[in-house]
Amino acid sequence: MIRVAINGYGTIGKRVADAVAAQPDMEVVGVSKTRPSSEALIANERGYPLYITDIANRAKFEAAGIEVAGDVEEMLKKCDIVVDATPGGVGKENKKLYELYGVKAIWQGGEKHEVAGISFNSSCNYNDAFGADYVRVVSCNTTGLCRIIRLIDEKYDVKSVFATMVRRGSDPGGIKKGPVDAIVLNPVTIPSHHGPDVQTVLPDINIVTTAMIVPTTFMHMHVLQMELVNEATTADVLELIRSHPRIGLVKGSTGITSTAELRELASDMGRPRSDLWESCVYEDSVSVVGDRLYLFQAIHQEADVVVENIDAIRAMMKATAEAGESIRMTNEALGLKAI
Ligand code: NAD
Repeated sequence: MIRVAINGYGTIGKRVADAVAAQPDMEVVGVSKTRPSSEALIANERGYPLYITDIANRAKFEAAGIEVAGDVEEMLKKCDIVVDATPGGVGKENKKLYELYGVKAIWQGGEKHEVAGISFNSSCNYNDAFGADYVRVVSCNTTGLCRIIRLIDEKYDVKSVFATMVRRGSDPGGIKKGPVDAIVLNPVTIPSHHGPDVQTVLPDINIVTTAMIVPTTFMHMHVLQMELVNEATTADVLELIRSHPRIGLVKGSTGITSTAELRELASDMGRPRSDLWESCVYEDSVSVVGDRLYLFQAIHQEADVVVENIDAIRAMMKATAEAGESIRMTNEALGLKAI
């Protein structure tokens, strides 16, 4: 069993912990919190040993009825690999600790590429992470872009990409972020950072991106345009998308044209936390016009990177040399059959 610790049990960390616990070849040896919270109580309830960043706070946790197993350093002594899911910028400060305890580490997209030197997406560069000590799983938006661009590039040779990200203002549990009533160009300058971030995984892709933030909490929406070298038809592209284990097609016959209806679908499917780990491409939007492919895809920001973290663990621990095998195992353990 691969012994996994999760440092930072928040939006991403709690999902990664549950996904690790579901795998046949992995176990959760600990999760960490900074303060007593409902999430800490849930960690106790799920049987994940709870470690805290500052052991001086132990009494506060215990007063709240939360059992503490020790501090983060003790957690690191018990694991083979740590998934750092602390807020962006905090993770890089933890690297010294991971080096000290000689554990492999995975960071999230809120950290810069340089923290690990390898930016990861299992459909694109699983082999780069094979046996590596440090890896960064790219952000939710970059994950969504990488999956579809790589798929299309392999068959049709993508000459250029233009993508606009319509981003959620906050995660559903957030109370401090907005906007409440505005469309915010974020950034107002073009290109946005997402294109260069895609290039940390797919360095040869010529891509320009723009981004804005809107008052919604569930999912981002991507508007994508790809210029193709090889001839394509809409029907063939749809067939190709159907073959990808982590890209779902939102069928026209469902009548779904929004993210709200996708959340309802995920909930009706019995997905934990209504999580959509797959990218959701709207079938009716997929159009080849001349040498261009156009499509809309919705990306569940809290979920798509979770499955990538699981594959990164397998690659780094050399559990399987085949990306496809790891993806299959991860999907099967979670019950992910793309929509
Ligand atoms: P979050 O704020 O929901 O959770 C972070 C957790 O880390 C919190 O529980 C916090 O208490 C804890 N924490 C803070 N400082 C800590 C420390 N020093 N040691 C241990 N724990 C600490 O954040 P999140 O949304 O889960 O984001 C985590 C990372 O994932 C970031 O890099 C972010 O950019 C990335 N990410 C977030 C999303 C998203 O939509 N939420 C999507 C993809 C990637």
